[in-house]
Amino acid sequence: MIVIQGKGVSKGVLKGNIYFYHRAEKKIEKVSADVEAEKARLAEAQQKAIAQLEVLAENCREEAGDETAILFETHAMFVEDEDYVDAIMSTMEEEQCNAEYAVMMAGEQFAAMFAAMDDAYMQARAADIKDVTQRLLNNLMGIVEGGIDSEEPVILAADDLAPSETLQMDKTKILGFVTQGGSGNSHTAILARTMGIPAICGLGDALKPEYHGRLAYIDGETGQVVLDPDPMTLAAMREKYEKQQKMKELYQQLKGQEDVTLDGRKIKLYCNIGSPEDVASVIANDGQGIGLFRSEFLYLASEDYPTEDAQFEAYKSVAMAMNGKRVIIRTLDIGADKQVGYFNLNKEENPAMGLRAVRICLNRPEVFRTQLRALYRASAYGKVAIMFPMIASVWEVKECRRACQSVMKELTEEGVPFNPDTEIGIMIETPSSVFMAEELAQLVDFFSVGTNDLTQYTLACDRQCNDLGKFFDPHHPAVLRALKMATDAAHKAGIWIGICGELGADISMLPTFLAIGVDELSVTPSAVLPLRAEIRKSIAQTCNLDMLNA
Ligand code: PEP
Ligand code: MG
Repeated sequence: MIVIQGKGVSKGVLKGNIYFYHRAEKKIEKVSADVEAEKARLAEAQQKAIAQLEVLAENCREEAGDETAILFETHAMFVEDEDYVDAIMSTMEEEQCNAEYAVMMAGEQFAAMFAAMDDAYMQARAADIKDVTQRLLNNLMGIVEGGIDSEEPVILAADDLAPSETLQMDKTKILGFVTQGGSGNSHTAILARTMGIPAICGLGDALKPEYHGRLAYIDGETGQVVLDPDPMTLAAMREKYEKQQKMKELYQQLKGQEDVTLDGRKIKLYCNIGSPEDVASVIANDGQGIGLFRSEFLYLASEDYPTEDAQFEAYKSVAMAMNGKRVIIRTLDIGADKQVGYFNLNKEENPAMGLRAVRICLNRPEVFRTQLRALYRASAYGKVAIMFPMIASVWEVKECRRACQSVMKELTEEGVPFNPDTEIGIMIETPSSVFMAEELAQLVDFFSVGTNDLTQYTLACDRQCNDLGKFFDPHHPAVLRALKMATDAAHKAGIWIGICGELGADISMLPTFLAIGVDELSVTPSAVLPLRAEIRKSIAQTCNLDMLNA
């Protein structure tokens, strides 16, 4: 039996085959090659692309209707477009080079040509050419989309995973994550919890690439990966799995019940999501709203700035699916571990303290304006609220509000519907925002405490660093006192306050949150029903602030 110990970052027990993720080398170089052989490779890549696009079009027609299916059919036509293919062939012949290089060059040439056209529709075709070119390149280089070349769902193993890599993977193929590096507070761990799948990080070199293909058992609570379990371990794992399934069934009975303590204190139980697809699990777990939609995941998942329309559609779909329940959408929070190539941000020594989140938005008004326009347009379709991350100063909120005013003025002039009373809130995740909470509370409708960053900045502890272990402690009295200060300031100003950091889902902290007077908890969808069970057993009046004492 082999037992590898790591840090459990998303609960759950399961078994499956380990699949070691290999990062695709995407750098393409010109190399001299036998042109006839390259032409044959190209033909094979084209055939494969057409077959892939046919499947995509078919699936799409069933799931999303004709319009999206037509897009894939058009892509299939591009693959064989005469001019495009001629351009590839002539590069190969003239330069006696490899197919990859010729495809890349043709892709760049045609995308630039479309982008330079006057007609907006034709300009938009540049993205299609890029997409088709990437598909051909992937096929030529043997890169599997989503990185998982397996029919069966697998336990995905990797050295570490960036949030953008995780987002681009085919989630239906992933049973759980196990990584050599990483930390429980990283966005990849957060994504695993949102997806409701077990995850273990910090397994180090003991998680060997040669385990690829081996059957393993993972326990996202104890942080153990087990290969070839002995009979006793196997029995214990099975028992835990069955218990987990029973608890899930029990929690189902809490659906539709109120989130209220025995002595009548109501607390809002909302959910954190990263994409419109996550709404299904919010509804399945009976979340009463969305307390944090990390909109930056839309940016991370795309190759270029998402357009106003694309964002509008995403926000609108969430607002409509939540059917009148509050949907708090956080404006772009990139930087630190969430790097987006096309933003071309400078490399920083201390990215967590660098140009990130609202700072980028205030420095790049056009990017900010596009997102705010999409958000206000979506506000006509549900109870959308806008939240600004990483606020440190009063002037930042005033500037954000000015940007909102200007967007509302534009939309009014254009006759575009929106809700002028859209609530505006800020995240409390810097010590400065805690100290300034009384002034900040005068400017907004709600606060939401980001305990992940608040812990990082209050304790001067990098949330990404696995070695910090016990030093990164969201239960630290300093963090809890900061939470209390912000809560008192919010209530003094008559606004509500919630927690959307990972600490909100920590059931052991519920009595302290009740004693502090937190009004809302926004958690990963799978944490809603267990928290509801606990809230309904609690008596708020008997809860105390002991944890705030050192
Ligand atoms: C937080 O910092 O607690 C938070 C909710 O935001 P993120 O984890 O996305 O930085
Ligand atoms: Mg944060």
